[in-house]
Amino acid sequence: MKKIVIVGGGASGLAAAITAARKGCQVTVLEHKERPGKKILATGNGRCNLTNLRLDPDTGYRGGTPGFATSVLSKVTVEETLAFFEDMGLPVRDRDGYVYPRSAQAAAVADTLILEAEHLGARLLCGVHVRQVEQRKNGAFLVRAASPEGDINIPADCVILATGSKAAPATGSDGSGYGLAEALGHTIIPPLPALVQVICRGKVFRQLAGIRAEGEVRLYLDGTLAARDRGELQLTDYGISGIPVFQVSRYASVGLAEGRKVEAELDFWPDREESQVLSFLRERRDRLPYRTGEEFLTGIFAKKLGCVLLSSSGISLTDPAGQIPDRKLERLAGQIKAFPAQITGTKSFDSAQICCGGVSVDQVDPATMESRLVPGLYLTGELLDIDGICGGYNLQWAWSTGILAGRSAAGRNH
Ligand SMILES: Cc1cc2nc3c(=O)[nH]c(=O)nc-3n(C[C@H](O)[C@H](O)[C@H](O)COP(=O)(O)OP(=O)(O)OC[C@H]3O[C@@H](n4cnc5c(N)ncnc54)[C@H](O)[C@@H]3O)c2cc1C
Repeated sequence: MKKIVIVGGGASGLAAAITAARKGCQVTVLEHKERPGKKILATGNGRCNLTNLRLDPDTGYRGGTPGFATSVLSKVTVEETLAFFEDMGLPVRDRDGYVYPRSAQAAAVADTLILEAEHLGARLLCGVHVRQVEQRKNGAFLVRAASPEGDINIPADCVILATGSKAAPATGSDGSGYGLAEALGHTIIPPLPALVQVICRGKVFRQLAGIRAEGEVRLYLDGTLAARDRGELQLTDYGISGIPVFQVSRYASVGLAEGRKVEAELDFWPDREESQVLSFLRERRDRLPYRTGEEFLTGIFAKKLGCVLLSSSGISLTDPAGQIPDRKLERLAGQIKAFPAQITGTKSFDSAQICCGGVSVDQVDPATMESRLVPGLYLTGELLDIDGICGGYNLQWAWSTGILAGRSAAGRNH
């Protein structure tokens, strides 16, 4: 019976374990936390957005070699993944394409995977920290780990590295997988926080803290537009957050790491051109000249935001709106459409949902997830230099790579 050792009992490791066990392999999962699947419990605000029916692999994944993610996702598709969960007795529900377990409980996803893996006879060993993966001259492996009972060495025909990234290390993904892969000859693209809050310069953010506003964030690297996204922006005392900010944050992380100038523009009225906003403001001034500056934007923006936009355009909050000169209205339209923010950092790995960077995918075969450097070694999930956007893309990446690695390792001829 083929022996497969999986390092890491997270989303991709459990998917790999179930797939390989179904193909008759003897599967051992080594997980250093007290239980497998801890990160799954935190996903989707505890509801687990496990995939996306409108997933577009060409635009939803970044990093790595172009086409790598598309190739993997054509091997194990969203439909196959849904069938995988359905088979294990986990019904799902769809909210505008975002797929959740029917019970809306992330724990149901983790429990289902664990129950199925155990039912198939996979050994799930918890509290076991893998320190080294060694390949023998005959191609077989020895996995060296520390367990509560002392050091253990586990022989394997194939090893699947499913250790995740450095994001949210409290869930177990402490980055130790990068060292394991590197020791086997793999190149690591420096991991950086992604899908993360962004820190901006300026006291103005303290004034704006707590505001949520529909808008667009545009991110510039050395003055060139690198990414943009729309949705609910959250303004905080340190800078900006919210899904659209998460979506562009990996470009900020990379830009800052490369020493580039990273700036953002916040567009608080993205569905109108600046000229339309200006006409609107002129008409409003002529219709409501008796209002004070402070009252001028009432009903358009949250009060705190309106006051900041007015002040940064040089408009008095106490004078009548009828006295606002055209040039200041032009400045106000400019502030509404492109409120500037200089980005000085991102929140740390502790706050990040994922990492960008990781094991270079040039060294991995997208048809099998097998290492091109170490035959019999497979790599999955976030450990790799591929990062997905919000909306179920990262878990889908974990399921697809895990299932593909489990299937390929089980079918590998020695
Ligand atoms: C707060 C939060 C919310 C998220 N929400 C979503 C969402 O709704 N939808 C979505 O698609 N994605 C979401 N993600 C991202 C998603 O959870 C991850 O991309 C996915 O879990 C990665 O799977 P993985 O198998 O690569 O790694 P992980 O799930 O992190 O699993 C890696 C496992 O390996 C273990 N391990 C690591 N090193 C060792 C070692 N040396 N020895 C033994 N064990 C080891 C870890 O303890 C861990 O259990 C979210 C992430 C966070 C943090």
